[in-house]
Amino acid sequence: MAKRIAVLTSGGDSPGMNAAIRAVVRCGIWNKLEVYGIERGYEGLINGEFKEMTVSSVSDIMQRGGTVLKTARSQRFMTPEGFQRAVEKLGQFKIDGLGIIGGDGSYRGGLALAKAGKTVVCLPGTIDNDLNCTDFTIGFDTAVNTVLSAIGNIRDTTSSHERSTVIEVMGRHCGDIALYAGLTGGAEAILIPEKPADIDQICETLIKGKNRGKPHSVIIRAEGVEISSADLAKIITEKTGMETKVVVLGYVQRGGSPTARDRLLASRMGCKAVELLLQDGMTSKAVGIRGNDIVAYDLEEALNMPKQYDASIMDLAEILAI
Ligand code: ATP
Repeated sequence: MAKRIAVLTSGGDSPGMNAAIRAVVRCGIWNKLEVYGIERGYEGLINGEFKEMTVSSVSDIMQRGGTVLKTARSQRFMTPEGFQRAVEKLGQFKIDGLGIIGGDGSYRGGLALAKAGKTVVCLPGTIDNDLNCTDFTIGFDTAVNTVLSAIGNIRDTTSSHERSTVIEVMGRHCGDIALYAGLTGGAEAILIPEKPADIDQICETLIKGKNRGKPHSVIIRAEGVEISSADLAKIITEKTGMETKVVVLGYVQRGGSPTARDRLLASRMGCKAVELLLQDGMTSKAVGIRGNDIVAYDLEEALNMPKQYDASIMDLAEILAI
């Protein structure tokens, strides 16, 4: 009998999840596996929302943002009864291995399933880039490009009115979206949760810019930074004399057609997940990218890895913002 695998997306959606689903389904079928999609993450797993996937069920989805399998956050999965039901459903549908595309919470759910004897592989689907076991997550590059495009638009109006703008981006604990979009968007200052902000220094940079005739300035603040965007704008206005507005980008950062880089990452990771699920005796793994290599770690080890932001990018951004 053919081995049977399933794939689900869980937690916050991210652009590129569809490309990952497509890769799992097509690589699975290519390897003569039966592949099921589970709708609505762990919630759908508990409810038994399984559907058999064919080559054509993943046609024309790679370019779409979001996830065709839908996603959910499941409180029930966190209860002993709900969890037990989820384990039973995997048994009932005779699933030999499960691919989980999601963020940190979804990985923890995957680890719980592995400890209950299930075979799982986790793939990093989140725009936040906050998973320790990979240099980049699926969706991060697209989110950075979305912010970059917003910076461009905001800069046009900011320049015309000779103001500054604080742009608030996603990132409660991990400031990577702010960091990468800030550097590549030429922001005058970047504030991230990992590094205490020197607001006097930021204001000095803004005043210097103003004195040499700069018509605008853009400050990128990750949402997890202690000082609020409104308070930051107020201080900047007081200290620099420049009118300062706040723009909160919010959920636009989650959507959009994935970039080539995210599609490539998702496709490579999806096929790696299938390769791992085909291995005899494999119990739980996390797929990642290190440099340009697709790698796999033991899932529990992956969850315990420390995450460090790339301080060299912050240093470079500061140099370039003189
Ligand atoms: P994002 O990074 O986009 O928020 P995420 O995967 O971290 O995605 P969460 O809402 O944290 O999103 O987790 C998704 C689901 O995983 C939860 O709704 C819950 O069902 C399950 N989950 C989260 N944490 C745990 C845990 N410690 N043990 C078991 N299951 C968990």
